[in-house]
Amino acid sequence: MKKYFLPLIFIFFVYSETGEVEFQDLIKIDSNHYEVNFVLENTALILSESSNDPFEILVTIKDSTIVNDFSSIQNYPIKSVEAYQDQNDVKIKISLYEAARWAKPQQIVENSNLRLFVPLFFGKDIKTMQREVIVAIDAGHGGRDPGAISSELNVIEKDITFLIASELARTLQNTEGYVPVLIRESDEFIYLDQRYQKSRRAGADIFISIHADAFALPSVSGASVYVWADNPSSISAKNLSKKVSPVRLEKYDLNEDTAMLKYPEMYAEKNRLSLSLAKKILHQLKLDPNTKLHKKSVEFADFRVLKSVDIPSIFLESGFISNPMDAKRLKGKPGRRMLARSLFLGINQYFAEVQDKNLFIFNKDSNLTYLIQSGDTLSEIAIRFGVPVMDIINLNMIRDEAIFPGQKIQIPHHQFYEIKPGDTLSEIALEYNSSLEEIQSLNNLVNTQIIVGQMIKLPSN
Ligand SMILES: [Zn+2]
Repeated sequence: MKKYFLPLIFIFFVYSETGEVEFQDLIKIDSNHYEVNFVLENTALILSESSNDPFEILVTIKDSTIVNDFSSIQNYPIKSVEAYQDQNDVKIKISLYEAARWAKPQQIVENSNLRLFVPLFFGKDIKTMQREVIVAIDAGHGGRDPGAISSELNVIEKDITFLIASELARTLQNTEGYVPVLIRESDEFIYLDQRYQKSRRAGADIFISIHADAFALPSVSGASVYVWADNPSSISAKNLSKKVSPVRLEKYDLNEDTAMLKYPEMYAEKNRLSLSLAKKILHQLKLDPNTKLHKKSVEFADFRVLKSVDIPSIFLESGFISNPMDAKRLKGKPGRRMLARSLFLGINQYFAEVQDKNLFIFNKDSNLTYLIQSGDTLSEIAIRFGVPVMDIINLNMIRDEAIFPGQKIQIPHHQFYEIKPGDTLSEIALEYNSSLEEIQSLNNLVNTQIIVGQMIKLPSN
């Protein structure tokens, strides 16, 4: 009998991680902005969705216990807030009189508590229940951990990753439907485990980790995209990495390893979506004339930052700082801007395919809406979104390139290919599963003459 004792304890340990949930309050920040607050014992795995008929938000806090079943009638525009136990989970139902822009529940460590809150925004122009996409951007390394260093070429990885992350955040920040969350906001040290924990607490829809490699051979160059390894062949590597750098979980953290065991379907779906996201980013990197690829397909590795059970996560190695060409590309703003562009366009393409009706970008006109910032120029915006400047000018009927901060402009959604030396139109057609005739008619070309730097519209499939 005794020999069964240990495994039983283990099973009990794996499946017994639950935390308490307690309703705190509903706060009116101003006439259009409310917050529903709960106190949590631990960081939780949380699912959330909205419905339009009736106007409702349903939040599921996995593996938790409600302190008191709770139901409260509220004043306009909030009809009621309910919280109740549903087997191992706590369900929160927020019913509304009118549609709201909401955000995924955020979990914030405050004093000695963990606060969970759901923000709600009301307004005359809000007709459907929708939320923005939250993109967690993880600039690799930082603080006392510089990452790779190339003293000869004067590049430090932590500086490069932060600049690429900031560039991506800048585009997301001003594009309607997206909210960036920088996991590292300055030159600070953050443990690997705290990076994915932070992204979970921020309610991230996806997690993007940005790095730059170095190698003993200066000839090795190019960018690559990784997703978390899920196959048995990588288990030994996984164990090795755990030995090298111990797991750093804090009091409030969610154990993702436990969650993987408990929710294999959720975990499999996350891996499938990570691969889909990685492929789209890799496709964009292939279209970027400035960036060479180190690997032509998505790579698999046990990079711990990618281990979240349900948040699709990718890892970009933006190049080798030990290679003179890559170092030059990563040190310059144009090179980093192209990497941020590939990430953004890949992300945008991914969400177009995900087709989540909760998202603000779902079913909108397929153009993107960008809010002009001071210092922006049309030509730079065109580069950041990978479209010809004339297409932006024509779509928005802009005269004399005159734009002003606060102006909203439409960005065409087409994919473009920038002509490189030696390219022919028929080769491009072949590469992108099109025909010469289709490419010609799409671009109003009367012959097959092209020039280097010209942007060719690609078919949308
Ligand atoms: Zn790195």
